[in-house]
Amino acid sequence: MRIILLGEPGAGKGTYSSELVKKFCIPQISTGDMLRASVKAGTPLGRQAQEFMKKGELVPDSVVIELIRERIKEGDAAKGFILDGFPRTLPQAQSLDKMLLSMDISLSAVIKIEVGKAILLKRLTGRRVCKGCGATYNVDTMKPKKEGVCDKCGKELVQRPDDMPQTIENRLAVYQKDTAPLIEFYEKKGLLRPVQCEGEYKDVLGRLFAALEKVAKV
Ligand code: ADP
Ligand code: ZN
Repeated sequence: MRIILLGEPGAGKGTYSSELVKKFCIPQISTGDMLRASVKAGTPLGRQAQEFMKKGELVPDSVVIELIRERIKEGDAAKGFILDGFPRTLPQAQSLDKMLLSMDISLSAVIKIEVGKAILLKRLTGRRVCKGCGATYNVDTMKPKKEGVCDKCGKELVQRPDDMPQTIENRLAVYQKDTAPLIEFYEKKGLLRPVQCEGEYKDVLGRLFAALEKVAKV
């Protein structure tokens, strides 16, 4: 199974990815997580990426394309993978096509996560992440047992720098301009599976899994 999760910032790509990881036993590949790890490690790539990320801009295509090129060759990705946050531009999608072709593999489906703007804003402003393990919470909908503390590792929960209100508006605008064209790109290839992701969590998961049921297990 090789799946792309496409959706606006705050749509829940990370959350649904972890559900798919459990269900299909394939890794989640998140360019956002990989970039944040580089920022945290203070590598040259991280320092370069940070400048774009804190403004809510996209990191240059060449940078993320190289990250993905290396990552999908790793052993754990041989059975399949979930791409979360990549591709985000047409050049990224075209590069991915070429990479997959050269590896003689193909995509199974592109899940389009559909959520209205009011919910997106609520999820982004309410999101809190663990400084230690990166687990995600929400002050309204996915509260930790103890306020401000991670259930899994006990470390402090903080807000991501790009979850501040002005940056959020920019990220949503960047999505419309650079990423939304991918919807048509994958629709034309017959890969697009729109999933309505508002409402009860278990219902959303039901719809998500149903959308993948008829997908070839390639
Ligand atoms: P979200 O989907 O909530 O915006 P991500 O964790 O996917 O969060 O991305 C955070 C930031 O990392 C983006 O705003 C962007 O700066 C950078 N980033 C992640 N993936 C890509 C990508 N494929 N291309 C360019 N920039 C990326
Ligand atoms: Zn934690």
